[in-house]
Amino acid sequence: MSGLGKGITASSIAVLLQGCGWKVNMIKIDPYLNVDAGTMSPFEHGETFVLDDGGETDLDLGNYERFLDISLTADNNITTGKIYKLVIEKERKGEYLGKTVQVVPHITGAIADWIENVASKPVKTGTDPHADVCVIELGGTVGDIESMPFIEALRQLQYRLGPENMFIVQVTLVPTMSDEQKTKPTQHAVKELRSAGFAPDMICCRCETELQSEQRKKLGLFCQVGAESIISVHNVSDIYKVPLLLKSQNVAEIISNKLKIPQGMPNISPW
Ligand code: ADP
Repeated sequence: MSGLGKGITASSIAVLLQGCGWKVNMIKIDPYLNVDAGTMSPFEHGETFVLDDGGETDLDLGNYERFLDISLTADNNITTGKIYKLVIEKERKGEYLGKTVQVVPHITGAIADWIENVASKPVKTGTDPHADVCVIELGGTVGDIESMPFIEALRQLQYRLGPENMFIVQVTLVPTMSDEQKTKPTQHAVKELRSAGFAPDMICCRCETELQSEQRKKLGLFCQVGAESIISVHNVSDIYKVPLLLKSQNVAEIISNKLKIPQGMPNISPW
């Protein structure tokens, strides 16, 4: 759901990977039909963040730029509107050579191609020839009709790149009722993601207070994720403390182990 902390979690993971010495790019996927956030009401959607190239985007892109000290372009924000516009323009030019244009494979293929094309682009002009790793935030909720083509596209991309080159983090809510942390919503969210052909490598649980070890073990068992990969993203007084919260739970090590990012890189980040 919105306001859960997906943007802050994605930015914090990116900052930890950057701290390992890696050049990190970021992509935000918004599954709405608007081409960009420029025409959306700030009362409903929050402030529009304007990028250096004039791209009008979701405010999460602002978080990415501030957390990572990078400069992003309009291409780093993918919306359903942008993808459909691209595919329909190609169809009008006859580029599909008479084929029936469909959500699968044409829309999903366009999403996967867009991500592959943008993911390795440099994010600091003049210094980096390319990015080493790209953190992609898929907004919305698993199971929403709007986000389904994106989940399918990411699944296809995982197949294209090899599962060892993709790390899936699911952000879920762990509510507290009568002083007890409830894991059921997370169990259902993971089940929903699995039914879409994806298994999370890590679950970041947004909760009011630190996730208790019993709940961590329970989630690990029911969701088939190692207990060390069940991460507590509890409320902190300042969002810039979230990277430290993830660091204390070895998030960068767990991700770099799967992605085979060499260990022992210098910790260059101020985090
Ligand atoms: P989403 O991307 O899921 O819509 P955001 O990452 O934009 O959510 O976060 C929504 C709000 O929650 C932000 O205003 C942020 O300040 C706050 N927030 C996120 N994570 C935490 C946290 N661990 N502790 C306190 N506030 C948080």
